[in-house]
Amino acid sequence: MRGSIRAMKTVTTIRELRLATAAWHQRNETIGFVPTMGALHSGHCALVRKAQSLAKHVVVSIFVNPLQFGPNEDFTKYPRQMEADKKKLEAVGCDILFAPTPEEMYPAGFSTNVDPGPLAKVLEGAVRPVHFAGVATVVTKLLLLVMPDYACFGEKDYQQLQVVERIVRDLALPTQIVGVPIVRDKDGLALSSRNAYLTPDERARAVAVPHTLEDIAVKLRDGADFSATLEAGRARLALAGFTVDYLTLADQETLETLSAYKPRARLLVAAKIGATRLLDNRAV
Ligand code: AMP
Repeated sequence: MRGSIRAMKTVTTIRELRLATAAWHQRNETIGFVPTMGALHSGHCALVRKAQSLAKHVVVSIFVNPLQFGPNEDFTKYPRQMEADKKKLEAVGCDILFAPTPEEMYPAGFSTNVDPGPLAKVLEGAVRPVHFAGVATVVTKLLLLVMPDYACFGEKDYQQLQVVERIVRDLALPTQIVGVPIVRDKDGLALSSRNAYLTPDERARAVAVPHTLEDIAVKLRDGADFSATLEAGRARLALAGFTVDYLTLADQETLETLSAYKPRARLLVAAKIGATRLLDNRAV
């Protein structure tokens, strides 16, 4: 396998990262970048493989970004497993792992905030008001540090992908954003680092999320009543034990909520079971 012969170098400071990538930039060699928060699974590995297929060199970052967590969210208990992550990255093939501390990314006095505008206010943004400004700020900083030719993001976080594409267009950053399809478990549940929070009973119930989306997509394409179909989907998730934050059909680019079925739409859901909030989406 092409990836497995790479010797991975781990760097934790911006200075080391710049030194490690300087020669590639000087030689105009392509760089693919995959930003993550760690607790890596096969979904992250699919992004790394995509980056390998596009670029000569691959940089992965692992940084649990405090700015994108709200005050009552899971920042402190978010899974951190650096040694296991390093082994996975070495196996899949990565040249540089950038794993900075919060102080390295946000030294004392840090106060700049990237505001991604209206896209960040709907859906996830309506439930998590500081989230996308935190994502936008860290992704902008990471893209400016790595200066990759390609940066791979999962469709799992569909709104995040749209926000990042908006930033790159608006600020004319010289990186092509590449969306990678959602990697799912055998039963259909989208892989997520947060799935580790699920109890066995909740894990069994969690398949209701992808199954409900699939069902709604089929029904809407078949011409079923729009509001009744979405309402039945919400009821099905509630019956499975979920509190639904939103289950919405939205324009696939602007993410404006639709009140009738149309092509080029995306079905998006966020729903909580026990202590775990699950996100999923699919094209309709
Ligand atoms: P995270 O570590 O959760 O911040 O995710 C890092 C990147 O991996 C983001 O671009 C996510 O969208 C992507 N990702 C997470 N889970 C999946 C998945 N199941 N399939 C594809 N991409 C994913």
